Amino acid sequence: MYKNNNIEPPDKSTPKILEDKTKSGKERDWKGKKKRSVLTAEHFEVAGLHSKAERMKDCATQLVFKHTEETLKLYQAWFCKVRLCPMCNWRRSLKIAYHNKRVVETVNERENVCWLFLTLTVKNTDAEVLPETISAMFEGFRRMMQYKTLKTSVKGFFRALEVTKNRDPQSESFGTYHPHFHVLLCVPASYFKKKEFYITHEEWTSLWKKAMKLDYTPIVHIKKVKPKEKLDELETYEKDLKNAIKEQNAILEVSKYPVKDTDVIKGNKVTEENVETVLALDNALAYKRLIGYGGLLKEIHKELNLGDAEDGDLVNISEDDEVANGTFNVIARWHIGLKNYVIE
Ligand SMILES: [Zn+2]
Repeated sequence: MYKNNNIEPPDKSTPKILEDKTKSGKERDWKGKKKRSVLTAEHFEVAGLHSKAERMKDCATQLVFKHTEETLKLYQAWFCKVRLCPMCNWRRSLKIAYHNKRVVETVNERENVCWLFLTLTVKNTDAEVLPETISAMFEGFRRMMQYKTLKTSVKGFFRALEVTKNRDPQSESFGTYHPHFHVLLCVPASYFKKKEFYITHEEWTSLWKKAMKLDYTPIVHIKKVKPKEKLDELETYEKDLKNAIKEQNAILEVSKYPVKDTDVIKGNKVTEENVETVLALDNALAYKRLIGYGGLLKEIHKELNLGDAEDGDLVNISEDDEVANGTFNVIARWHIGLKNYVIE
């Protein structure tokens, strides 16, 4: 009890919580991603994948930012780089989106092209055959891109492998996995007008079927990239660029890192089913590169010297935000009890 009522209780000053916003005012969800990483790590623990669990628990526990005029810029952090880590995959997504923005902008500046979205699927598989199915898909994709028809029509591509799981108990294929490719294709501007370039939906399907040596007809989607209204945190907004930006927003949709943590861990609790998914996906995706570039896009990615968004540096997303001298550090540390980042 305090003798004097005027005396404040011992200083338990409320901790200052990290607030990191983009230039456009959008909150960067460090807390949400870290919470998901902790939850994913718990699943890894139960699955018996102890060293990955330990690494994931340590992922981004301390963040050092440089405080610039308006925003914080991440300066130092340690990321675990486990394939299924939600924190790392968020950083990977941001980096891929930035890379693709730069690559697409450069292509559009230099060449008269248009962009297509291609989705390539195979039948759902169970966990045991998932790794070999994925390997076969990489091989099939490589083979398909060598076909003369595609060499004539496709100038370059970005492809991402995504694996979703069927969680509908009513479905016949409940519990099976659905690996598929999302591909962004760069084709000549005259693609839709010239017969020598245009590839019909049926042709796309049969090319994929042939490349994969399938005895059934796979589901394939192809569509033209249409400008999209939604704004993204990465772009600047100028009237004359408006259409290009809208097109780019659509392109950025395939630029996310293909592992969605909500596909891996359903809900907010450790469940047997989630542990099973973690084991299956960790095994199937280990040492595999989920994203890749080809043709013109590969050349430009290399020329721009963008580095590796999958296994490379996850601290610096873009190289254009130079940090001025004299800026001070802001250190945020993950607080287990508060489940939030607290500023030191
Ligand atoms: Zn991580």
